[in-house]
Amino acid sequence: MRRAPVTRQIVSVVGGKDAASASTYQSTNPARTREVVASVGMADADTFAAACRTAKEAQREWAKVPAPVRGRVIASIGRLVEANAESLARLVTEEIGKPYAEALGEVREIVDTCDFFLGEGRRLYGQTVPSEMPDKNLFTFRNPVGVAAVITAGNFPVAVPSWYLVPALLCGNAVVWKPAEYAAASGHALYRLFAAAGLPDGVLNVVFADGAETFRGLERALEEGTVHKVGFTGSSEVGRKVGELAGRHLQSACLELGGKNPMVIMPDADLELAVEGALFSGFGTAGQRCTSLGTVIVHESVHDEFLRRFAEAVRAARIGEPDQDVLAGPLLDQKFADRYEEYLTWIQPHHRVVSGPTGRVTEDSPRQDFTGEGGLYYHPVVVDGVRPDDRLFLEETFGPIVGVTTFRTLDEAIELANLPGYGLSSSIYTTDARNAFRFREGVSAGMVSVNNSTSGAEAHLPFGGNGKSGNGSRQSGMWVLDQFTRWQAMNWDHSGRLQKAQMDVADITPDLDFRLP
Ligand code: NAD
Repeated sequence: MRRAPVTRQIVSVVGGKDAASASTYQSTNPARTREVVASVGMADADTFAAACRTAKEAQREWAKVPAPVRGRVIASIGRLVEANAESLARLVTEEIGKPYAEALGEVREIVDTCDFFLGEGRRLYGQTVPSEMPDKNLFTFRNPVGVAAVITAGNFPVAVPSWYLVPALLCGNAVVWKPAEYAAASGHALYRLFAAAGLPDGVLNVVFADGAETFRGLERALEEGTVHKVGFTGSSEVGRKVGELAGRHLQSACLELGGKNPMVIMPDADLELAVEGALFSGFGTAGQRCTSLGTVIVHESVHDEFLRRFAEAVRAARIGEPDQDVLAGPLLDQKFADRYEEYLTWIQPHHRVVSGPTGRVTEDSPRQDFTGEGGLYYHPVVVDGVRPDDRLFLEETFGPIVGVTTFRTLDEAIELANLPGYGLSSSIYTTDARNAFRFREGVSAGMVSVNNSTSGAEAHLPFGGNGKSGNGSRQSGMWVLDQFTRWQAMNWDHSGRLQKAQMDVADITPDLDFRLP
């Protein structure tokens, strides 16, 4: 039985206290847009900048807490998230329409991230390094960066933020987190779970604000010297602006941006497997993952057979209420539905839609017996005949639409895979290891799947992209530590005299003219 909808009232939390709001935003349920999930008090740039000042104060003490003790806090966060997994996943489903099973998987990823980083509290290794001089020791230490300002998208409203928050906090930083407006309630719930683990006030702050106020607030904080690392997950367009701003302050932001992820299908591929992978990565989360499949690049010899099976699978796929057993629910929010309708206009006369109807699911255009009433539901679309100069081929289309094109040689497939200039995820279906390794070497993506879909990250493997997908920063596992710590080199000379590097170094003379008879 469906629960009666509850409208939560939420506001930003700075220094452990509710902060003032300048306006209100209604976060709605995309499966029933008339239901308000949360009434969100929106902060302005002043509040954002104030949160960064508060974080800077709190960070000093937090950095003094021994890393293994900070690791225990991360362990507690993991336990709290695990104990609240169903409630958090239900809220994610309610707020952004992600099917419940996927939402639960998303919550699991937070637990996995905590599991990894609780141990890192007992590592955070530095090195001892040999010196070129006697009686001198060299060391390296990882120091926290300071305050991290983290701005996130809402398609993974809790897992992706945890990829920032968990390692940033573990490394001894304080954080000001700005979740996406349309995922504010999920963000607030995650904040509360982190706070319940005993983080001191001000170490983690959550600020709800729109893009313009966030930008102004961040600009001010950077000028005031209260932000030392910017983390941004969102569109390439906004990422460019945020990266530019950080660059002006001599900082390199961690940018995790959009994708146009290719899937190459070789003539020797297991087509059944490829269809399953294309269906999941093209239309799971209604195509609204950064790693969603953009274009299938299929060998011309298997094109017709692949397309027939893929179109059939897409036509049969269940789209519906996200609390049911469905492949996809609604789009995340009205703004994504509007943008998706724009992407549909990119379908040209030389294209062929092979998946059935396009556009909104309605009483007049139902899906099986589902009429999508009151929700932002769309038919999944497969477009064949996509050409390399089409917008559909070149640009990210965040939503349930997948293009199909053909190739003759693997080199041509790799060139097509790289052409849009993104570089997040990619996939190849083949039964020949040589194809897999040649593809890996040639593709510009940060992530490569072999006989697997373009989506599906594990919490201890580097995640991130190149080109329009990001500036090469990596999240997850040990790789993210370089985002949230700075290496400090220390040398200690205990010789009792001034030994000069490069000058006072013992030399052993070789006989370089020596040759074997
Ligand atoms: P978006 O860029 O519009 O917004 C992302 C966040 O930035 C939101 O919190 C938003 O309020 C904020 N924002 C907007 N304008 C801003 C500005 N001028 N200054 C500072 N902050 C601003 O992205 P979206 O449309 O909400 O999310 C979808 C995009 O995110 C897609 O392109 C998707 O591929 C990408 N994404 C990438 C990853 C990844 O890890 N690479 C993960 C999830 C989503």
